[in-house]
Amino acid sequence: STSVMWFRLDLRTEDNPALVRAAEDDEVLPVFVIDPDQWARAGAARRAWLAANLLALDDTLGGHLAVHHAPAAEVVPQLAADAGAGSVHVTRDLTPFALRRDRAVVEALREAGVEGVATGTAYAVAPGSVTTKGGTPFKVFTPYSKAWREHGWDAPVGAPEVNWAKGETPAEVTEMLQQAVAECPIDLPDAGEEAAWARWTRFRDEALHDYDTDRDRPAVEGTSRMSLDLHLGVLHPRQLLEDIKDKRSTGAHTYRTELAWRDFYAEVLHLNPHTVWRDLNPLDMPYDEPEDAIEAWKRGETGYPFVDAGMRQLLAQGWMHNRLRMITASFLTKHLHVWWPLGAEHFLDHLLDGDVASNSHGWQWVAGTGTDAAPYFRIFNPVTQGQRFDPDGEYVRRWVPELEHLPGKAVHTPWEHEDGYAKGYPRRIVDLAEERKVALDRYEKARRG
Ligand code: FAD
Repeated sequence: STSVMWFRLDLRTEDNPALVRAAEDDEVLPVFVIDPDQWARAGAARRAWLAANLLALDDTLGGHLAVHHAPAAEVVPQLAADAGAGSVHVTRDLTPFALRRDRAVVEALREAGVEGVATGTAYAVAPGSVTTKGGTPFKVFTPYSKAWREHGWDAPVGAPEVNWAKGETPAEVTEMLQQAVAECPIDLPDAGEEAAWARWTRFRDEALHDYDTDRDRPAVEGTSRMSLDLHLGVLHPRQLLEDIKDKRSTGAHTYRTELAWRDFYAEVLHLNPHTVWRDLNPLDMPYDEPEDAIEAWKRGETGYPFVDAGMRQLLAQGWMHNRLRMITASFLTKHLHVWWPLGAEHFLDHLLDGDVASNSHGWQWVAGTGTDAAPYFRIFNPVTQGQRFDPDGEYVRRWVPELEHLPGKAVHTPWEHEDGYAKGYPRRIVDLAEERKVALDRYEKARRG
């Protein structure tokens, strides 16, 4: 008998429980479907990252992966019928978009007499697996993370023996993938499972021990960059957790907690699908029309060096350090008074790890409207944040060449140095103290209703 393995955000052969199920059949047809709307909307770097990982997966499968560019509800049942498959296997994907898509596919499969089988999720602890003693979902992170640890996760299942059926990718789709990679505006990290493992083991051996302290120093390679691989499911968090299960350092402990945040936000989004673009805990805040300010923010030309360095790292690498994600988001919402979804959209356009749950809830945490709502009045000061977390100014000099000539932490305050603007660095677009006051006044009014 034949089954279809429909890969989605699980582009791996190791530890893929859905694939283990599919491999119970004599032959497995591997398929990936590019949704035309999503492809058209995605930024060039994101498209290239997906394409590079698909080409790498195809390599691993000996060139057997069939990639199609069409609505899944049309193509998946057709491929299953053509292959004479009795079942289509997937990893459950719980984003609002995926649930809609999958409902349509399951319906069409049923009509064709093919069984749809969902096994596992992209999370160590699947949404809905842990609840409070009263049986309700957790609303804040700390008790969730405690229950998450107590719940634990399954051991990885390894790579099954699979007899792959040969899938055909239409020539124009192969060309589309190759072109996406060739035209990628940034240097992509290496794609595929092997490269992801290499990234992981380097981090594990060189940086995990000191992760707790180094994760806040953007000039240092102190974080794992696993978000790149976790996002497309090239690795599963369970594999990482298993690999460090005996490590007792504070670094390893903190790292596990960060992976719990990923699961927590997936659960929050799953239970509150409207929070992709809307507040979980709405605050009736007046925001300004974005106008020119948001464009300066996007380009990394706000005149605040730490903010600009972060925004330029995003454009150059398709990735931004977590500390900078918080600071740049805070600057947009609280100093420029721009509504957070406009910033979240820009992030999703450019982040290779762009994920609706972590992104929208990361933004809401900053905007003070999410789960663990950082109190609204906690407004990051990008200058003191820079002096604290980039004390030698190395990170800023790396991304903002117009400030290269300023030594040490002088880069954080070009306005205090005679030659601060000698190389064309833009002037500050707003006054921090004034805008902070505006934000706090608006917040007070909103809070009082
Ligand atoms: P590490 O520090 O090595 O952490 C390991 C893993 O833990 C990450 O890969 C990630 O899967 C998880 N993790 C760490 N911090 C968080 C967090 N705060 N929330 C959820 N998961 C976390 N993460 C995304 O994966 N995609 C996004 O689109 C995204 N958007 C964000 C937007 C904003 C405004 C903020 C404040 C945070 C956002 N994050 C997002 C979370 C976090 O910034 C990234 O996961 C992290 O920077 C990725 O780098 P890393 O893999 O080196 O992280």
